[in-house]
Amino acid sequence: MSAAEFVPQSRSLTTLSRAAKRCEGCDLYRHATQTVFGEGPASARLILVGEQPGDSEDREGHPFVGPAGKLLSTAMEEAEIDRSEVYVTNAVKHFKWEPRGTRRLHKKPSAREIAACRPWLDAEMEAVEPVGIVCLGATAAQALLGRDFRITRNRGGTDRVSRGPLGNCDVASVSNSSRSRGRSA
Ligand code: SF4
Repeated sequence: MSAAEFVPQSRSLTTLSRAAKRCEGCDLYRHATQTVFGEGPASARLILVGEQPGDSEDREGHPFVGPAGKLLSTAMEEAEIDRSEVYVTNAVKHFKWEPRGTRRLHKKPSAREIAACRPWLDAEMEAVEPVGIVCLGATAAQALLGRDFRITRNRGGTDRVSRGPLGNCDVASVSNSSRSRGRSA
């Protein structure tokens, strides 16, 4: 189970995004509306990585357009970071959910699904070659830094990743709880 066979050689973000629409690298595509690939300029110095698309993203086909995306935009404005200059994506490109009445509730992707989708994330990293990566939540951090990564232990820290397609760039992680605290503050 892997996206590897669907990832083209090209590192054009347009080509990758198009190819990802046909990915069947794990079972998540079966119940999602569409692939939600990363978006942003290839020249971005910063990549933000979330866990997976949510309900709004699944319907609209774009990352970070739902409530979490609005929160993210506000946080970036406060930090004086121009969102249009940042590449945003998710560790997993299809929405995983479970029915609850008429609603679709977010369901955490499994380690297997995260690993299956990793070739897309690697390709995005190779296409953008960022200077820094910010992981939004534990799933994104573990997708990049390994399953042993614990966000409570590493919160606020920066991990320098120096191998594989990540090249030499700094990886920072932000926990969901700290983001929630930021929202209510
Ligand atoms: S979640 Fe990733 S690996 Fe699984 S089908 Fe979607 S794009 Fe492919």
